[in-house]
Amino acid sequence: MIDCVKFLKDNKITPTKQRVDIAMLIFHKNQHFTASDLITLATKSSLHISQATIYNTLCLFESRGILKTIDLQNERKFYDTNLSLHHHIYNVSTKVLTDVSDEQIEFSKLPDLPDNLEFEKAEVLIKVKNKN
Ligand SMILES: [Zn+2]
Repeated sequence: MIDCVKFLKDNKITPTKQRVDIAMLIFHKNQHFTASDLITLATKSSLHISQATIYNTLCLFESRGILKTIDLQNERKFYDTNLSLHHHIYNVSTKVLTDVSDEQIEFSKLPDLPDNLEFEKAEVLIKVKNKN
């Protein structure tokens, strides 16, 4: 179990009890989850944390760079604790998001960029569906 109080402090986040409780639910393993997954998990864990606090805390963690987001627009927004460069497969039938390691994808061509911009990273989202 990681030391969530230290982890939050190291990332310049005041470790309130609720933030520490939320961090303990999130950061004990690499995982993808949505805000509603986390609300369900918090309720199951008998944590009395309002939905607004959960949304605000996720927003704070994201802004401090300790959570990555994968935004599937109108479908769902996933939070990801794995901050390393990697790609995803999203199954639209099951709504499950799975990691794909960086070594499994290679780019043979990327677009030219304007002179004032430089390449930062390219992450791929592959959408799949179950065969009927
Ligand atoms: Zn991921």
